[in-house]
Amino acid sequence: MRKFLAQLFGGSCYLCRGAASALLCAACDADLPRLAAPACPRCALDSPGGAVCGRCLSDAPHYDATVAALAYEFPADALVHALKFRGELALAELLSAILTEKIGDQSVDHVVPVPLSAARLRERGYNQSVEIARGLRRGRPDLELCVRSRDTPAQMDLPFAERRRNVRGAFRCTRQLAGKSVAVVDDVMTTGATLDEIALALKTAGAARVVNWVLARTFPPD
Ligand SMILES: [Zn+2]
Ligand SMILES: [Zn+2]
Repeated sequence: MRKFLAQLFGGSCYLCRGAASALLCAACDADLPRLAAPACPRCALDSPGGAVCGRCLSDAPHYDATVAALAYEFPADALVHALKFRGELALAELLSAILTEKIGDQSVDHVVPVPLSAARLRERGYNQSVEIARGLRRGRPDLELCVRSRDTPAQMDLPFAERRRNVRGAFRCTRQLAGKSVAVVDDVMTTGATLDEIALALKTAGAARVVNWVLARTFPPD
């Protein structure tokens, strides 16, 4: 696969155009903003000593844990953008590999990519979260388990304060999940409102544990 990708990109690094045997040269790969600082296990924001943060303690989200591989800053944002809006699906393999590194040997009963609205899926032709989830090789991503019960405006077009209301009740589960563990895969986690709403739907269907596996995390300004 790596060889195939290298041919696809002409043997040059996707970011710096230098010689590369993979999508990124070793230097660009090493420069990716991988998250290593101690983080809240629940929301993946910085937290001294890796303790559950104050926000999660006072207003606990419905998900139990979050694994986030990269900070959503350059060049991670450029890679996600190219996958999401420019149809550069070959990047999914690279981004999945980066997320796999961070997930380690964790396993779950079901892997659920965040569903796109039907309208957006028609327009884009693919769901970037599905593409990332496929590359994780943790079983076949389950595209039927959690569905949108209504279309909503894109979260990125809304101010943070409106995002929670925008997605309220937007997802439902199609099966019972008694006692199961579920990983929800997303490209970027910002306020976490969408992931929280999906976790609520999964928990309502009986899921015992919901973890978010997200490629990139945005950090609120201090
Ligand atoms: Zn490079
Ligand atoms: Zn937290």
